Amino acid sequence: MSTHYDLIAIGAGSGGLAATKQAASLGAHCAVIEGDRLGGACVNVGCVPKKVMWYAASLGHSLADGADYGFSIDNNGFDWNKMKQGRDAYVQRLNQIHLNNLIKAKVDFIPGYGRFVDAHTIEVDGKQYTADHIIIATGGRPLEPKLPGAELGITSDGFFELDQLPQKTVIVGGGYIAIEIAGVLNALGSKVDILLRGDLLLRSFDPLIRETVREQMQQDGINIHSNINLSTVTLGKNDNLVMVSEGGPELGVYDCLIWAIGRIPNTDQLNLEGIDLICDVRGFIPVDEYQNTNIENIYAIGDVTGKATLTPVAIAAGRKLAERLFAGKVDSKLDHDNIPSVVFSHPPVASVGLTEPEAREQYGELVKIYQTKFTGMYHAMTQHKTKTAMKLVCVGKDEKVIGCHIVGHGADEMLQGFAVAIKMGATKTDFDNTVAIHPTSAEELVTLK
Ligand SMILES: Cc1cc2nc3c(=O)[nH]c(=O)nc-3n(C[C@H](O)[C@H](O)[C@H](O)COP(=O)(O)OP(=O)(O)OC[C@H]3O[C@@H](n4cnc5c(N)ncnc54)[C@H](O)[C@@H]3O)c2cc1C
Repeated sequence: MSTHYDLIAIGAGSGGLAATKQAASLGAHCAVIEGDRLGGACVNVGCVPKKVMWYAASLGHSLADGADYGFSIDNNGFDWNKMKQGRDAYVQRLNQIHLNNLIKAKVDFIPGYGRFVDAHTIEVDGKQYTADHIIIATGGRPLEPKLPGAELGITSDGFFELDQLPQKTVIVGGGYIAIEIAGVLNALGSKVDILLRGDLLLRSFDPLIRETVREQMQQDGINIHSNINLSTVTLGKNDNLVMVSEGGPELGVYDCLIWAIGRIPNTDQLNLEGIDLICDVRGFIPVDEYQNTNIENIYAIGDVTGKATLTPVAIAAGRKLAERLFAGKVDSKLDHDNIPSVVFSHPPVASVGLTEPEAREQYGELVKIYQTKFTGMYHAMTQHKTKTAMKLVCVGKDEKVIGCHIVGHGADEMLQGFAVAIKMGATKTDFDNTVAIHPTSAEELVTLK
């Protein structure tokens, strides 16, 4: 293994792997440094194991619905361990696939944690490697609060290590990770409470989505407590956790506490101050639209930049950067407009573009909203019901669609195609001129009045 490269990426998660493989395909001599498992957060403690568990939870709902459709089902309970073993084996296969792909792509894999010696040199386990270009793709980790007893809780990382289904769980936080974990645990049989510091779930989402998700979660038995400022966590009788809020009463007794209060960047161990690389107050690395940091040959991509922290964003930014550096495409950069995203709640949320409040702030009176809320046909037969809600945010005389927000069965698979149309500048008339597919929920999006 040589020690000088055209490109080194620190971090073999979504961004670092994509950037180095793309650069190598363009002839660059590349290495990627990784201190943990290949694939980063997405593969090991994020999208992948989360989606497996979302499928398990969705099956739980389907089994209950099956009886209403006439199936005679003996549901003898859920084997958490079996699911966990299958899930972990799948993740291990993916780790191996990532290693094979690096070998195939001729990208050197350097195991260990990297830190800067100077702007062109990284040290890993006492050995130094140099590169013309260095990409910081070190991602982030869950934030834990600083309050007495906080260590009695776990984070999303710990959630994936649980060996059994907790009986009574409290989740602190109202972002997408909190919502997704709550939905999984609730569907699989845990009693779930959510504690919010303010009052909003999914704060950055459109109000129609926020309200529909909240109603559904409550209807499904999840308790949501607003305006809670926790002061302490203590161990009560039988090793149960007792949460105490500031000036308030004890908040019940739980056997599992999950902190889902945000993520912080992995920049503290990189010796960035030693090379004068600028971070913001929270440690995220500010970059321009070309992923440039304040140091000429050092770039940052993915979660460590704190912008649009999603796997496909890290991948796309990495590939675009590799093309700029090694394919002579000087303008190659990721367009951050209209990035679609999904929350794997039950049912899922899918969203692209501006929310109604964002659009009104930007365009005022020019905004026109089309929306609907209904119970999908699937539930005509079931006792357990979910709502589907959809909103199109349009602007101007030609009613260009600048936002699309959906919650309901199939929303996760529905949005990708609509996101293409919106990215291309589709108008409400283009939507209306598209013949509906019947009977589906998606057809409502092309027939909104
Ligand atoms: C619970 C959860 C669910 C999620 N669900 C989704 C989803 O459904 N869809 C979606 O698009 N995104 C989802 N995400 C977000 C997604 O995982 C991240 O956006 C994505 O992984 C970011 O990629 P990255 O390359 O920036 O960082 P990461 O994937 O985090 O990779 C960074 C890598 O750098 C390594 N590293 C850190 N410091 C060093 C060092 N000094 N030396 C060497 N290696 C180092 C880390 O070990 C890690 O492997 C989820 C995240 C979580 C936590």
